[in-house]
Amino acid sequence: MTVKTSKELVENDEKYIWHALRKYNPESQPLIAAEAEGAWITDIDGNQYMDGMSGLWCVNVGYGREELAKAAYEQLKTLPYFPLSNSHVPAIKLGEKLNSWLGDDYIYFFSNSGSEANEVAFKIARQYHQQNGASSRYKFISRYRAYHGNTMGSLAATGQAERKYRYEPLSPGFIHVSPPDIYRSPYPGSEEEIGKAYADEIERVITWEMNETVAGIIMEPIITGGGVIVPPENHLQKVRDICDRHGVLLIIDEVISGFGRTGKNFGFMNFGIKPDIITMAKGITSAYQPLSVTAVRRDIYEVFKKEDEYAHFRHVNTFGGSPAACAVALKNLEILEKEQLVERSAHLGGKLAKEMSGLENHPKVGRISSKGLLMGIELVEDKISKNPAKPELLTEVMEECKSNGLIIGKNGATVAGFNNVLTLCPPLCITDDDFTFMV
Ligand code: PLP
Repeated sequence: MTVKTSKELVENDEKYIWHALRKYNPESQPLIAAEAEGAWITDIDGNQYMDGMSGLWCVNVGYGREELAKAAYEQLKTLPYFPLSNSHVPAIKLGEKLNSWLGDDYIYFFSNSGSEANEVAFKIARQYHQQNGASSRYKFISRYRAYHGNTMGSLAATGQAERKYRYEPLSPGFIHVSPPDIYRSPYPGSEEEIGKAYADEIERVITWEMNETVAGIIMEPIITGGGVIVPPENHLQKVRDICDRHGVLLIIDEVISGFGRTGKNFGFMNFGIKPDIITMAKGITSAYQPLSVTAVRRDIYEVFKKEDEYAHFRHVNTFGGSPAACAVALKNLEILEKEQLVERSAHLGGKLAKEMSGLENHPKVGRISSKGLLMGIELVEDKISKNPAKPELLTEVMEECKSNGLIIGKNGATVAGFNNVLTLCPPLCITDDDFTFMV
């Protein structure tokens, strides 16, 4: 193989690679990564950047982990593939391990991506209701601004219109409610009153839709890609109570917030609730292998164990839960435990919130929200109007960070200009020096 110069690579990249989410702009070229170690990426010209976004919010244990490469290699040699219509050892071990991470009794269905894990959750929820004597329940409630994936169902659940535009119609039956945003709440009162008011909104929607048509609610514990919106403390418990009152399943999307990101094993653990279904991806392998999981409460699974021809879950994907992906996930969880990275996320998260709090006095900073090593900094035109800052300002800040060697993110929802949140989501293994550099 001939080694390509960086100029040739740039030309070939432009020629062959259809980039995700990248707008056509002949002036700008993508960062082409060559290698990475810890929290740092080196591009093909030797420039180094600290990855303040862990790739796409996923490289929780950081780059360059030989143990993970070895776990994949060893497993690929031993058993590269076997479908989970039967079973294999790494999947069984991973299921047991996930129960210990959840501290509870769930059963696990494996797929490849967060989008698929959510699709699986929707299908399981509908089939569960059908087989449980509630066949009219098919609708799902989700929140504006949330992102749940790119497939026809998970994109329908997504509450960001710009991501759906020109791909519609998507799957029917998805209804949206407000994100539980304290900073932009239309409801007056204390944080607690706001948390209850947003939950009451969900209950009103369930009632208006007829509760016997609603199958589930899907939500992230903290809206991440929609602009790091941390809900009021009491909100999720209120939602849990509403689900119980109306026979609606609570599906918690932990695709970003899982595996230590928010300073707990899973994001929902910050709010003292127990979900019915939990979806996971990204940090489960720290992105060293594609893998996702739909965790389901055991009594829901019991309804699939009838002797009727169609009672079992008739869903398969070829690669989901491949032995190497499960082996990597197991090793990844071992690293998180051994290096106490969940605790480190909580510790550094607290420190980050403190260190950044001074920025709140900046005239263009509307709010700073965070949990663990996950932070959103919402930029506004001014603090009185709270009008979202112009996209150019965010681009300028991001470019300034990049030219100083730090990659940060920009998220929110483009419609109505709410793509105005700068995001930080560094690997949980960042060193003290990395932390200081990032701050
Ligand atoms: N759910 C959440 C909260 C996400 O942030 C994402 C992706 O960013 C997904 C689901 C979809 O995951 P994937 O890109 O692996 O399909």
